[in-house]
Amino acid sequence: MPRPTRARINLDALRHNHSISRRHAGSAHLWSVVKADAYGHGLLPAALGLQSVADGFALVEFEGAAELRAQGIRQPILMLEGIYQPDDINLCLDYALTPVLHDLWQIDALAAAALPTAIPVYLKLNTGMNRLGLSAEGLHQALRRLEAAGCVSSVTLMTHFADADDERGIAEQMARFAANTNGLNLPVSVANSAALLRFPDSVAMAGNWARPGIMLYGSSPFSNEQSAQELGLRPVMTLQSEIIAVQQLQAGDRVGYGGTFIATAPTRIGIVACGYADGYPRHAPTGTPVLVGGQRTRTLGRVSMDKLCVDLTGLEKVGAGATAILWGGDEKAYLPADEVATAAGTIAYELFCALAGRVSIEYVE
Ligand SMILES: *Cc1c(COP(=O)(O)O)cnc(C)c1O
Repeated sequence: MPRPTRARINLDALRHNHSISRRHAGSAHLWSVVKADAYGHGLLPAALGLQSVADGFALVEFEGAAELRAQGIRQPILMLEGIYQPDDINLCLDYALTPVLHDLWQIDALAAAALPTAIPVYLKLNTGMNRLGLSAEGLHQALRRLEAAGCVSSVTLMTHFADADDERGIAEQMARFAANTNGLNLPVSVANSAALLRFPDSVAMAGNWARPGIMLYGSSPFSNEQSAQELGLRPVMTLQSEIIAVQQLQAGDRVGYGGTFIATAPTRIGIVACGYADGYPRHAPTGTPVLVGGQRTRTLGRVSMDKLCVDLTGLEKVGAGATAILWGGDEKAYLPADEVATAAGTIAYELFCALAGRVSIEYVE
């Protein structure tokens, strides 16, 4: 029999969440961000699931972009990290990909490639994230070089926010972006999920493109202030397994590696077939929420490679064979991945992306 550790991906919820991003975007277009195997949800199923509603897809992997084309995806595809080497420009032409150019060597590579047809490009401006992006001076040089080379069919100006989800917000970066692109009169793309949800009026203008990622997968970019449910987002990924054994502890009994949990009273515990080799975070401490038999309880002790332990106190009817939902679920029983992530000191992005290859995925339309 197959191991009961499975992920279920709800494509209807994915489309629903896309419709929420559409509502915030007004008349702006939407790149559906599907990098990192669609945040662990499976690139092709996610993209095909969104095909009827997406304006375009954004990712960082050329192999993934080629796969999308091979599957008949016709929408524009944005390469968020641009080209990695000069040759990649040919892939942009062959697969009709729009590269984000964030460094002058990429501009020069494009100009030197002398492509038979002009291609659309994004120019990325660094406005304070200090990760990728041209300086203000670099942007104007890039524009001059591209114009001289005559090799682009359109230019969109882009930046990325460092604090769209926290107190700093986007004002400072937006001001810098505006000051350095003033008078260019080109379409812009600035918003990730957090900016789109929090500042729709400043980012969702006609002709522009927003770049929602995490919200499509049903997680809140600011889970501590506003939950996914409050944002109207539905969970897309459910990670579930089963209780494969039950133990009766006495006071003083220890649980798992290192015995980091010690029972203070007689305690029934369940052993769930899911561990860090499935993508469950090893650093999730005792007390991390979990749903067992549809009811909320907590993990106990250290997470192992293939197993974790849960408290069955008050869940007398639950025994071996009961379903354990590690995150996700449905209307009847739902554990937001954001809550598990917070308990484990991380973000749902990381939980989703870490879903391990050995977990079989079932797609539900
Ligand atoms: C990943 C990414 C996004 C999407 O961000 P979310 O927080 O998941 O919405 C948008 N823009 C760029 C440049 C990215 O790399």
